[in-house]
Amino acid sequence: MRAAVFKGAGQPLQVEHIADPSPGERQLVVEVAYCGICGTDLHSTREGPAMLPCNSVLGHEFVGEVVALGGGLQSGWARGDRVCALPFLSCGSCAACLSGSPFECSGLACIGVNAPGGFAQYVATSECNTLRLPDQLSTPDAALVEPLAVGLHAVRAGGLRAGQRVLVTGAGPIGLAVALWARFMGASDIIVSEPTAQRRDLALSMGATAVVQPGANLAEQFADIAGGPPDVLFECVGAPGLIQQCIEIAPRRAMLVPVGVCEQPDTILPFPALIKELSIRFAIAYSRADYETVIAMMAQGRIDASPMVTQVVSLDDMPAAFEALRAPSNQCKVLTRFK
Ligand SMILES: [Zn+2]
Ligand SMILES: [Zn+2]
Repeated sequence: MRAAVFKGAGQPLQVEHIADPSPGERQLVVEVAYCGICGTDLHSTREGPAMLPCNSVLGHEFVGEVVALGGGLQSGWARGDRVCALPFLSCGSCAACLSGSPFECSGLACIGVNAPGGFAQYVATSECNTLRLPDQLSTPDAALVEPLAVGLHAVRAGGLRAGQRVLVTGAGPIGLAVALWARFMGASDIIVSEPTAQRRDLALSMGATAVVQPGANLAEQFADIAGGPPDVLFECVGAPGLIQQCIEIAPRRAMLVPVGVCEQPDTILPFPALIKELSIRFAIAYSRADYETVIAMMAQGRIDASPMVTQVVSLDDMPAAFEALRAPSNQCKVLTRFK
């Protein structure tokens, strides 16, 4: 099969022929139709603690059709089933797997990280983490299930209630997904801070009630628009200093949910958080239930994340599009299309 292969930091991915995957016990092989490029793909191909070994295949936001069935399957899968999957190869039988939280499985391998990913014609998935797509949900739309599930998981972690005021820092795919779900859950104000004009517009089309420029006066800008401080703050950038800024903006007993991936040391001053008795709840990934909710709401037409997709490229054009995302750009979600 053809795949975009990581050849080392500072080098573009290279489209190569590599061996097709064969399904293990309780695994399926999916022929990939679309696979989205994620910020974590960029992180893990940069020099640093998260960098993957040479010849890794990335990609965890894939959707496609079942083409091969492994042994010991417990549900009635058929070739041609349209599916997406939580990007986890997990044991399928521990308490975490059985309760739909495979990210907590002790036997976990992450597809697109330490197991072969979806920037390839075929990818192996765990049966227990694979979900059939309803007919009402188009295949390209389903490529957004993963980033939307990250946003939903964060909004659930924040315990967001209808009527609350919400601050979202950053309008990348995760910030946009958080804004979408905050709107869905009935937040009264959803104010997104974002430096790029195009992404601010995207935020407004995906759920933000207002957008602002980030900066020192963020608290004042928020209060001017919303009539008070944020009840829940979602840090969706992952750059040093932003958790501290959120701590300073937050009112007493607010909830702060860091979702952005920050791999550098970051200093916080606990004292203001202590004085205000803030709750700080980190959020990562998703459960099977998050995926199920996203799929159901998309299939019912109750959410529309399609504005998030700003570019669709072929596998041959994908390495260049991938590199272009390393510099500030107007792109948001870039999908690789395989057929
Ligand atoms: Zn992702
Ligand atoms: Zn398990």
